[in-house]
Amino acid sequence: MIQLYIPLNFLGVLYREIKQSLADMERLFSLLDQNREIADSDSARDLHIDHSEGGEVVFSHVNFSYESKRQILFDVDFTIPAGMTTAVVGHSGSGKSTLSRLLFRFYDIQSGSIVIDKQDLRDVTQHSLRRAIGIVPQDTVLFNDTIEYNIAYGKPGASKEEVVAAAKAAYIHDFIETLPDGYASMVGERGLKLSGGEKQRVAIARTLLKNPSILIFDEATSALDSKSEQMIQAQLKEIAKNRTTLVIAHRLSTIVDAQQILVLDKGRIMERGTHQQLLELDGAYAQMWQRQQNRQEQPDSPEPSVDEL
Ligand code: ATP
Repeated sequence: MIQLYIPLNFLGVLYREIKQSLADMERLFSLLDQNREIADSDSARDLHIDHSEGGEVVFSHVNFSYESKRQILFDVDFTIPAGMTTAVVGHSGSGKSTLSRLLFRFYDIQSGSIVIDKQDLRDVTQHSLRRAIGIVPQDTVLFNDTIEYNIAYGKPGASKEEVVAAAKAAYIHDFIETLPDGYASMVGERGLKLSGGEKQRVAIARTLLKNPSILIFDEATSALDSKSEQMIQAQLKEIAKNRTTLVIAHRLSTIVDAQQILVLDKGRIMERGTHQQLLELDGAYAQMWQRQQNRQEQPDSPEPSVDEL
């Protein structure tokens, strides 16, 4: 009994810890292969994506709280048309990551609905939902294994050629070639430590292999050097092509090209529009933008995170 209890308890702790970070969502689910708190309904069907360029994602009047006493999202209502990019900005704690946890169906909402290509998340199997969504987390956790394994993880059974093609598309191939053992180099805690930008590029390669219809891109909070930043931006454009994309943004320059920007404040969408429309609106977003411009005029200062503005 004790023997059984300890690992289960450990898994419970692990589950709660990991649920908080988007970083390991996909890995955790593949370990447990089910979400312990959310069950598939008896009539659940596999999610079917109708659009070749990614599914349409609709949040309708979503209200959500983790705990009954404290509501986190209030009447959140938006659509991401198939193949388009929506970026969410807002101060720390405004609910940005919560949106992506809900899209992945980590939790069920209290009211409203979340629908992909006209299928409510509560009516589809979790397995098919997770297969359709790829996540590029802010902080990728690498396995203690070869870099090839770490990329191939996106598509079990992927060939070496596929891994190399994905690495090239994620601009990490040349770097890998400089490593002593190339693709066989060990990475992770007990191997080579990669920089934040390199890890994120591994995550991008992994996601390209997985080839999901819907992408969640969780931008790193910590500032990368401007070269890595520009590279990641270019890659985001690349991987967002033909996919429906939700970007959790921490820097405004990442999202100027997004078809829709949502400004979240204490769980409510306060403003929405394109970068240009929001500047013309001259509200909270325009102020953030202005403050960011002022900060950048100071020499050698990296682009500040929205959280600092
Ligand atoms: P950041 O930019 O700092 O990542 P965020 O906008 O992504 O912040 P969320 O992580 O979505 O914010 O959190 C929104 C609110 O929900 C916060 O007040 C947070 O404390 C609360 N919250 C998050 N996870 C839980 C949880 N598991 N249980 C209870 N409250 C939570």
